[in-house]
Amino acid sequence: MLSADHIRALKQIAGADNCFDDKPHRLAYAYDATRMSLEPDAVVFPRGENDVSAILRYCNDKGVPVVPRGAGTGFTGGSLSAKGGVVLAMEKHMNQILEIDFENMLARVQPAVINRDLQNAAEELGLFYPPDPASQDYCTIGGNVSENAGGMRAAKYGITKDYVLALRAVLPDGSVIRAGKKTIKDVAGYNIAGLIIASEGTLAVITEITLTLLPKPRFTETAMGLFQSVEDAMNATYKTFASGAVPVAMEFLDNLTIRAVESAYKKGLSVDTGAMLITDVDGNTKDDVEWQLSEIEKVFKENGATTFYRARSQSERDAIWFARRNASQSMKFYGPDKMNEDITVPRSALPELLRRIKKIGEKYDHNIPCFGHTGDGNVHVNVMTNKQDAVKYHNAEKAIREIFEAAIDLEGTLSGEHGIGLSKAPFMSMAFTTAELELFRTIKRAIDPKNILNPDKMGL
Ligand SMILES: Cc1cc2nc3c(=O)[nH]c(=O)nc-3n(C[C@H](O)[C@H](O)[C@H](O)COP(=O)(O)OP(=O)(O)OC[C@H]3O[C@@H](n4cnc5c(N)ncnc54)[C@H](O)[C@@H]3O)c2cc1C
Repeated sequence: MLSADHIRALKQIAGADNCFDDKPHRLAYAYDATRMSLEPDAVVFPRGENDVSAILRYCNDKGVPVVPRGAGTGFTGGSLSAKGGVVLAMEKHMNQILEIDFENMLARVQPAVINRDLQNAAEELGLFYPPDPASQDYCTIGGNVSENAGGMRAAKYGITKDYVLALRAVLPDGSVIRAGKKTIKDVAGYNIAGLIIASEGTLAVITEITLTLLPKPRFTETAMGLFQSVEDAMNATYKTFASGAVPVAMEFLDNLTIRAVESAYKKGLSVDTGAMLITDVDGNTKDDVEWQLSEIEKVFKENGATTFYRARSQSERDAIWFARRNASQSMKFYGPDKMNEDITVPRSALPELLRRIKKIGEKYDHNIPCFGHTGDGNVHVNVMTNKQDAVKYHNAEKAIREIFEAAIDLEGTLSGEHGIGLSKAPFMSMAFTTAELELFRTIKRAIDPKNILNPDKMGL
C-alpha cells in the first residue's frame, strides 16, 4: 500500500479527481488480456506531460514503482503492476490527435489515441496509417509504440516502428526528452526513439508521438486459397513473396482452426481442408492489383492449392475474412484454457516450424491449432489445455517451451508482436546470451537507476 502522504502528494500533482487508491480503481486497473491480475496501489490519470513529469520525479525520489498504461489490451502483462505502486493511466486526458499535417504526411498524437481513430482521421484526408493490430478498435498508439505492434497489413507495410518519426517522452527522473524529428532523414545523435520503441514502458513514458502517413491505395482485392496440407500453404506463402507480388496481408488458418471456426459459426467451411490462406492485395491501378492476384493464383496452384477464389464484392471479402477474424475466439472448442504465443520465424522456415509444432502436439497429446500472419512469418500458436488437470497443464507448459525452442532454432523470435512483459520473461535466457541480457540491463540501469519504471518486465 502507498502511504497517505504519497496519495496526498500525487493528488496535489494531478488533482484529487485524477488520483485514486480505492479498491474499485485498483481492481479495474489490475488486468490486461492475459487474465493475470496484479493490483496497483494507486491509479493516476495525468492531465498532460507536465503531470507525467512531476509524478515520475516524485515517484523516483520516493522509490515508488510506476507502470504506464494505454488500454490494457496487452497479451503479456506489460501494463500490470508487478510490484504495486502507481498505474499511470493515459486514457482519460492524453487522448487527442494533435495534428494531421497533410503537406508532410504525418500525424502528431497523444499516447492514448485509439489506433482506429487515427486510421479514420487519416483516411478522411485520403491518407493511410497502416499498422492495424486486431485490437485496433481499442488499443492505443502509445501501447502500440511500446510493444511495437503489428497487424494484418504488416506483410507489405511493416509494423509500428516503421511509422514512428519522433517521440516526446519523460524519463524516470522526470526529465522531458524529444527523440527523432519530423523529417524523413535524421542521423544526428543516437536513435533514442528506436530504443524506446518496444521497450514496454520500462525506459520512459511516451507523451507524444509523430507518425508518418502514406497515401491511401485506391484499390484493394481479397482472395483465398485452400490447401491439402499446412506445408503446402506455408510453401505458397514464402514463394508468393519471392514472385514479385507484395500482398498487403497473407493470413493462414490450419485444419484445427478451420474446424473450430466452423463448429462455432457454421459458415460452410470445409473441415477437411488442410489449411486456408487469405490474402489482400492493393495498388493504385486495377492492372497492378490484377497482376498481383494472377501471380498469387499461379504460385498457390503450383504449391498444391485445390481452390483459389477471388472475392467479387465487399460482402464476399467480409465472408472470406470472417473465418480469420473469428479464429481466436473459436479456440475454446478444444479446451477451457489457452496458452497463446506469437512466435515468428523467417518466412521460408514456416513449413519446418509447423511440422515441429505438430510433432510437439502429438508428443504431449495436446491440440495446438495455429493461425496467423504468415505473410510476416508470425504464427499464433494455441496450446489448448485445462488448468484443472495438473498433468495436462504441466505438459502444455513443456510444449510451449519446446515451441519457443523450435522458433529460436529456426532463427526466429519469442515474440513477433505481443512483447515479453511478465509472461515471456522466463524464456528470455533461451533467446539471448548472458552478454546480450546484461546489455539490456545496463541500458535499463543507465536510464532508470532506481528501477521504478515498470519493474520486473522483460526479464530485466
Ligand atoms: C483481441 C486482441 C487482439 C490483438 N491483436 C494484436 C495484433 O494483431 N497485433 C499486435 O501487435 N498486438 C495485438 N494485441 C495485443 C495488444 O493489443 C497490443 O500489444 C497493443 O499494442 C497494446 O496497446 P494498449 O494500449 O492496450 O497497451 P497496454 O496493454 O496498456 O500496454 C502495453 C505496454 O505498453 C506500455 N505503455 C502503454 N502506454 C505507454 C506509454 N504512453 N508510455 C510508455 N509505455 C506505455 C505498458 O506499460 C505496457 O508495457 C491484441 C490484443 C487483443 C486483446
